[in-house]
Amino acid sequence: MKHLSIKLFSLMSLSLLTACKNGQEPAAAGNTSQNPLMQKSDLQYQAPRFDLIKDEHFKPAFDYALKKHDEEIEKIANNAEAPTFQNTVLAIETSGEDLARATMIFSNMTAANTNPTLQKIEEQYAPIFSAHSDKLYLNSKIYQRIKALDVAKLQGEDKKLTEYYLQQFEMAGANLDDAAKEKMKKLNEQLATLSTQYNNKLLVARKNATVYFDSEAELEGLSKAEIEAAKAKAKEEGKAGKFAIGIINTTQQPPLMTLKNRASREKIFTASWKRAEKGDEGDTRSILEQMAQLRLEKAQLMGKKSFAEWKLQDQMAKTPEAAMHLLAEIATPAVQRAKEEAKDIQRLIDAQKGGFKLEPWDWDFYAEQVRKAKYDLDESQIRPYFEVSTVLEKGVFFAAQQMYGISFKVRQDLPLYHPDVVAYEVFDRDGKSMAIYYLDFYTRDNKNGGAWMNNLVNQSHYLKQKPVIINVFNFAKPVDGNPSLISFDDVTTMFHEFGHTLHGLFANQQYTSLSGTSVPRDYVEFPSQINEHAALDPIVLKNYALHYKTKEVIPQALIDKITKAASFNQGYTITELLAAATLDMAWHSVSNKDDFKPANDFEQAALTQYGLWVKEVPTRYHTPYFAHIWGGGYSAGYYAYTWSKTLDYNVYDWFKANGGMTRANCDRFRQYILSVGNSVDLNMAFEEMIGHKMEVAPYLTNAGLKANK
Ligand SMILES: [Zn+2]
Repeated sequence: MKHLSIKLFSLMSLSLLTACKNGQEPAAAGNTSQNPLMQKSDLQYQAPRFDLIKDEHFKPAFDYALKKHDEEIEKIANNAEAPTFQNTVLAIETSGEDLARATMIFSNMTAANTNPTLQKIEEQYAPIFSAHSDKLYLNSKIYQRIKALDVAKLQGEDKKLTEYYLQQFEMAGANLDDAAKEKMKKLNEQLATLSTQYNNKLLVARKNATVYFDSEAELEGLSKAEIEAAKAKAKEEGKAGKFAIGIINTTQQPPLMTLKNRASREKIFTASWKRAEKGDEGDTRSILEQMAQLRLEKAQLMGKKSFAEWKLQDQMAKTPEAAMHLLAEIATPAVQRAKEEAKDIQRLIDAQKGGFKLEPWDWDFYAEQVRKAKYDLDESQIRPYFEVSTVLEKGVFFAAQQMYGISFKVRQDLPLYHPDVVAYEVFDRDGKSMAIYYLDFYTRDNKNGGAWMNNLVNQSHYLKQKPVIINVFNFAKPVDGNPSLISFDDVTTMFHEFGHTLHGLFANQQYTSLSGTSVPRDYVEFPSQINEHAALDPIVLKNYALHYKTKEVIPQALIDKITKAASFNQGYTITELLAAATLDMAWHSVSNKDDFKPANDFEQAALTQYGLWVKEVPTRYHTPYFAHIWGGGYSAGYYAYTWSKTLDYNVYDWFKANGGMTRANCDRFRQYILSVGNSVDLNMAFEEMIGHKMEVAPYLTNAGLKANK
């Protein structure tokens, strides 16, 4: 359930990618009139010409668009006229139009329908784009021009856009003197290199952590298909006759839920936990310790106390203290609940005469038994009620119509990049056409995992652009005329991703940089989470949860089971998440480099300090394999999941207290949240919506950590 925010010139790309002093020759621009990426699409709302776009169009389009953007940047920097909003901020905002178009379509293709050619282009251009981004955001002349503007005299979005760019330039280091800027570039380069090395080592570590078993008996509890797969994997790796179990990125591993042999469970768990600290080529510790040091150095170069302080400037939380405060408030009751769950599990172990004390590798195995006993929820009973297109049209679309008055019409005339993709036109509450919306449901080998929402065209009144949006999923494709039946988790994912889509659809901004889902990371998941609640709304549920054969509505007893099971194992789930978020914040809140310790010592001290060192409930990611923060863009950002969820529960409680998800309440939500993008003070908009600041209590009650008032 993740949202990929594709914004080429974001700071994320600055920090993620290698700064490359490329001496790349401006390639032949290609023929602009023949290349569908080099011009605006003539289709409705500039929907991409997927019928004309070919792999070979990307490189010439990038080269042409980069060169054109370079010229635009130079022109803004060297403008002889005194700086104005129009000739500086607006000029930056509207520059790079071709580049934005080509990269947005490219990002979608590489994530949803890639191939070796596109992957090669992606590798080749990542450092080029990164260096290109540096060219803009470290440009002193442009920075000075923005700084010279009298922000107080500007109004509305013009003012907000100016503040936005000023902050982005300063966060990138545009206000540093030349020597410091050089140092910063070096630090960025070192960090990018280390991050790549980290990712590569982690890949090795994960591969080397594969666990081999000699006999099928050791794998008792796994399904036949899983055992066959383990056998095939071992054979593939030259260990025919053995059984191989691979490791996934989290601490806990899926087979631990069903593996009956306790020694096998321990073996897999230990392989997972220790994967990247074995002193071999997959040991990531010295790299991440260096990264933490360099990040602190970078933050201090920019005049900040810690890396987290630098990173959180443009986020809702604003300071690491605010983020930590929220995590700590949830941690106490979450750990308490986890300990109660541990007792439940220990009782079950004792009742079965296990004769041992619960360890982390036992948790999922016994929790699954507790879940079955307590809730008697069988996935195969539920699936027949959730057929993909029925869930979409009679669930997701029906809810949107009830809540916001919008409607949908299939568009069979629009070109698609894959035959499985479907396109709709969306109409607003007044019946006026407002957007094009694509869905790409089924899993493919050339598609990234997970589910996400992307804009293919950003909304902007200034550019006269309406949103073109896509949701991508990974549901199993039905074969031989069978229906595509999904789990309730998948149903929730559909509502979730459509929540992002609503945020994009209702965007009502002048400028794309402030439009729709271009909001802070600790905010972006909240509108999508709000829409998840619609999935369980009784009126909506009865409209879409129809048995695919009999068309009968799902029985109330099944609904009750789904609802009850939702609060199961929450102590564990929340505690492991909070532990990871706290760990991330601890690494990035250090303000004196002497306070760093070797990775494992640092981790234990940090988690102990916040009461999150719980033996049975290990952190979701242990420092050496916490890829989000060392190899991805989530450094000092993993708390965002919890922050967004808290916003969501606050607003959900407001809905409940005010008569539910009615048209009037949803119109209010649209007015204050879904339609404002990043064009206003979001903390203020949030408070105006619900009448008070974000509180932690709604999180605790809705997550089942505290009894309802
Ligand atoms: Zn999301």
